[in-house]
Formats: sequence, C-alpha cells, structure tokens
Amino acid sequence: MKTKWFKIGIGPKYPTMDNKHNIPITRPFIEKAEIKAAQRPIRSGWVTQGPEVAAFENEFRGFVGADHACAVSSCTAALHLALLVVGIKPGDEVITVSHSFIATANSILYCGAAPVFVDIIPGTYNIDPELVERAITPRTKAVLCVHQMGMPCCLEKLMALTRRYSLPLVEDAACAVGSEILIDNSWEKIGKPHGDIACFSFHPRKVLTTGDGGMITTRHEDWDRQFRLLRQHGMSVTDKDRHEADTVVFESYDCLGYNYRMTDIQAAIGREQLCRLPAVVEKRRALARRYEDLLSGIEGLEIPHEPTWTRSNWQSYCVMLPENVGQKATMEYLLKHGIATRRGIMCAHREPAYSNHTARYPLPLSENAQDRCILLPLFPQLEPTEQDRVAAVLQKACMRR
Ligand SMILES: *Cc1c(COP(=O)(O)O)cnc(C)c1O
Repeated sequence: MKTKWFKIGIGPKYPTMDNKHNIPITRPFIEKAEIKAAQRPIRSGWVTQGPEVAAFENEFRGFVGADHACAVSSCTAALHLALLVVGIKPGDEVITVSHSFIATANSILYCGAAPVFVDIIPGTYNIDPELVERAITPRTKAVLCVHQMGMPCCLEKLMALTRRYSLPLVEDAACAVGSEILIDNSWEKIGKPHGDIACFSFHPRKVLTTGDGGMITTRHEDWDRQFRLLRQHGMSVTDKDRHEADTVVFESYDCLGYNYRMTDIQAAIGREQLCRLPAVVEKRRALARRYEDLLSGIEGLEIPHEPTWTRSNWQSYCVMLPENVGQKATMEYLLKHGIATRRGIMCAHREPAYSNHTARYPLPLSENAQDRCILLPLFPQLEPTEQDRVAAVLQKACMRR
C-alpha cells in the first residue's frame, strides 16, 4: 500500500496507511513538542525507566490529584498489578462488566480468578451498581469497575457499597484521563482515585498517548511500593539506583515480578501530551456537544447520556442505532461515504477465549449495546464540516431501513 502523508495540526508530516477513509475514527494528536521531547532521553543515553518516567509520574499525580502514581507498560499491565496487590488469587471472584475491552476481564484471568459479569445501565454503558450488590458472594474479593469510553461510572454508589462489604474497588480508567466527577460539590479528576486504585491507558486510541503505556494511581503508599517492585522483576534496587551508586550494590529478587516498565522515551512524550491534555479535552467536549445538537433530531437514534455529576473526556462518541437499522450495513454505508466507524464496545463473555467462563447472569443490555451501537469519529483535529458530513450521512443511513 502506498503511504500517504498529511499534516496533523501544525505538526510534522506523519505517515499513515489510512488513505481509504477521508474521516478516520481517530487521529493521535502528536506534534513537534513530543518529537523534540523524545530526543531528550535518546540523547541522554538513558532510554528506559528513569528520570523521565519519574517526572511523568509526578506530573500525572499532580494532574489527577493522586497521592501516588506508578507508570507501567500498558493499562493491561496496570490492571494485572492492581488485582495482584489487592490480593486476588486463584479461586477468587471479581465482579466486573463483560461490556468492555477484553483486557478488563483478562486481567482477572491472569490472577487465576473468575470474572463475574454484571449488566450495564443504558445511556452511559456503565456498570449497574444495584447488580453489583446482588452478585456479591463469599468468594467475591474485589469489584473492578470501568469508566467506559471516558464516561465516569456511578463511583459514589460503588464506593459506599464496597466500603460496606469491605471489598477493594479497582477502577479501569483506561479511557478516562481528564474525565471528572462531582464529589461533595467539587469536581474531581478520575484517578484521584476514588476507589482504591485507578488504572490508565496511553494507547493511541485513548485521549493521551505514549504509543503504549499505562499508569496506576493509589493513596496506599505500601501498594505503590509493591507496584514499583512488581513492574521490574521484583528487583530490590532499580537499575538507575545501582548505576548511580558509589559502591557496588547487589540486588535481590524478593517476589515474582514482571517486566512492565515504561521507557523514558514514552514518558518524555507523555509529559508533553499531559501539557496538551486540558486543551484536547476541552476540544473533545465541544465536539461532543456539537454531535448532540446535530444528532438529537434523528428519529430513534440514541445519543450518549452524560449524568449531571459527570464530565466525560469523550474518548469515544457512541450512538445506539434505531431498532431494525442494521449495524454492519450502516457502518458499510458510512465507510462507502468515506467515514470510518467502529462497532459498539465488545462483550468478553461472547468471545471464544471466554467459552469456559459461562456468564452467571443474563447480560441483555450489554449484548444489545454491542449489537446496536456504533462509534463515530471524534478527535481534536475533526473539522466542523467533517462533523456535519458524519451527521448528514448517518441521518441518511438511519432512514434507509
Ligand atoms: C484500552 C483499554 C484497556 C487496555 O489498555 P492497554 O493500555 O491497551 O493495555 C483496558 N480497559 C479498557 C476499558 C480499555 O478501553
């Protein structure tokens, strides 16, 4: 395939394979500042987890208002470590949603535990706290909630519930960097965290990217110490401390660890992305409001519901198609008109990898959302004229039934 070059914002020319779709589903917002920043660690000679990672952690911690932030290689790694540190073991149950990217449920299987899937609330596509309470058994050892597509889930209810049952609450905040929630009359960032641990993703499909990468925030100092140990093979001394020591230091390996490190190159990029984040989120919010105006007239189409106590970062804009309007046919119609879309969020329990884990409860709303939703293009560089086109073509598609 021929590589097409086009401009991102004011930034550098960027290669893309995506010359078929005039409007892609997303476009990473990476500019000169990130490229310059990436040169810092490369020139310094220290390229993996080091001073840039430490600075990024500190800046991220300040941004979300967390006591501790530990950078890792992905949100999947973050979720795995979060569940290990709250003590999830083989035979345990963790209550979560099936209606999420598969990494949410996978992290539970990595610990040898069983995911117990509960259904979602329509409109926000987030976990239903009432169903969480009903799913608690003596084997339940944690609740793993998701802020789906950046929309904060019912944290206050879940916090009260998990406190009552003395269960740890882990937040899959993969998509939710920059999202906010109203707690005691003040707006707080997702990741403070409100539960015990929050896990973020910096995959290019998310609002802040480092290529790949993740972050774990918590208020528990001891857990933060454990994350730092587990992300680098359980090694008692970091490479950097050993490198800088005046005397010979022998490390020990005190527990079974992993290689879940973030590199300094990624962190340097992340620091620039974090500076840009408030403007990016503001732009995404403006585009989401505009979609709301453009789409609310389409008969039978359900646009996302943002509760008054939330401010989404609009990582994805998800619409539910009118009944008897085919999902795939609509996506193909849009594609033919140069507009890329994605189907709604998947359901893990329907995937072959989960065939040995029969869902304990029926999940009709999750399945309905997967089958009837599509995600529309939304990224800061999206032009109003492009957005108008998406709305117009979608309207035509909905009338084709
Ligand atoms: C993207 C995503 C993940 C996985 O993040 P990675 O950084 O790619 O590992 C986990 N959970 C949810 C809800 C996601 O959207």
